[in-house]
Amino acid sequence: MSKYWSKLTASLVPYVPGEQPKDQRYIKLNTNENPYPPSPKVIEAIQAAVNEDLRLYPDPTCEKLTEKIAHYYRLTEDQVFVGNGSDEILAFAFQGFFSPDRPILFPDITYSFYPVYAKLYGLTYETLPVDENFKVEPEHFRIPNGGIIVPNPNAPTARYMPLESLRIILDANREQVVIVDEAYIDFGGDSAIRYIAEYPNLLVVQTLSKSRSLAGLRVGMAMGHKDLIEGLNRIKNSFNSYTLDRLALAGSIAAIEDQSYFEETTRKVTATRERTIQALKPIGFRIIESQANFIFITHPQQSAQHLFDGLRARGILVRFFNKPRINQFLRVSIGTDEEMETFVAAMGQIVG
Ligand code: PMP
Repeated sequence: MSKYWSKLTASLVPYVPGEQPKDQRYIKLNTNENPYPPSPKVIEAIQAAVNEDLRLYPDPTCEKLTEKIAHYYRLTEDQVFVGNGSDEILAFAFQGFFSPDRPILFPDITYSFYPVYAKLYGLTYETLPVDENFKVEPEHFRIPNGGIIVPNPNAPTARYMPLESLRIILDANREQVVIVDEAYIDFGGDSAIRYIAEYPNLLVVQTLSKSRSLAGLRVGMAMGHKDLIEGLNRIKNSFNSYTLDRLALAGSIAAIEDQSYFEETTRKVTATRERTIQALKPIGFRIIESQANFIFITHPQQSAQHLFDGLRARGILVRFFNKPRINQFLRVSIGTDEEMETFVAAMGQIVG
C-alpha cells in the first residue's frame, strides 16, 4: 500500500501467473506451454529480422501478419486483429465492448484473468455455475447482461463446449458482444470462427502461445465482424500503436506459414495427452474430458495439495488452485512422452 496509489490501484487484485522457476530445472507442467520448440522457420525468420531495421518502428497495422491470418481462416483483413498475447486483446475487448451498467457473464470455474479485467475497467460480473463435471450450461446465459466471455475449451478444466451449445448462447444474446476465448482450440475442438459471418456480435480470440509454441513471443489474434475489429483498433491506438515488435511480427508470420510443423506438434501433444490419461486411470485418478493441451485431474484418496507437494519434491511443477470447487484438482500441462512418463511414475509413488 502506498499513499501515491490511486483508489483504483489500491483496489486491484492482480492476476498471478504460474511460476517460472529460476532455482532449478523442473519438469514444467504448470503453465500450459508447448513442450516442443517453435518451428525452425520461426527461429530463422526472427534471426533474419535482427538487423539495422530495428532502429525503425514496426508496422503499426501489422498488415502482413493480419493478411496471413485472414488467408488462413478465409476471412478478410478487416476481420482480423493482432495483439501482444491474447491477454492484451482480452483486456482491449473488455474495455471496448463490455457495458458497466449490467453485469458481464462467465462460468464460475474459468480463466482467472476475467474478474481481474472486470475490476480494472469498473465492470461488474456474475458467474454461472458449471456442473459437477465442469460442463458449461448454455441455457444459463439467458439472463440480462452487459456482455459474455466463455473460453472454449475452458480453463483450467480443459472441457470443450460443442458449437451447438455456443450457438444457444449467441442466439440468446444478439445485443451484446460474446467473446469466445479459444486459447486451446487447436488441440481438438472446432473453432467458432465459422459463425462470424452469421453473428456480428461474436469475437473469437486465439493465441500463438500454445499450439504454435510461442508463449515467449507474445502474439495473439482476434477474429470477428469488421466493426468489432475497428473497435479493438480504436482502443489499441488510444493505448500503444506498436504492440507487436519487429521480431514478433517476423516470427509469427513464419509460424502461421509452417502448417506441417504445427500439425505434427499438435498431433504429438494430443497423442501424449491420451496416453497420459490411460496411464493415470489405473492408479485411481478421475480425469475431466480434455480437448486441450492440459488435463484436470483429481484423486479420491489424496488431497491435491499433497499431490502437488509430492510432485514438486520430485522436480515436477503442476498448477494447484486453492479455490472453492477446484481445490481437490490439479491442472497438468501435457509435456513430451518422456516427461509424462516421469510424471505418471511420480504420481504412482505418491499415491502408493
Ligand atoms: N486465455 C486463456 C483461457 C488462457 O489460459 C491463457 C493463457 N494463460 C490466455 C488466454 C492468454 O494467453 P496469451 O496471453 O499467452 O496469448
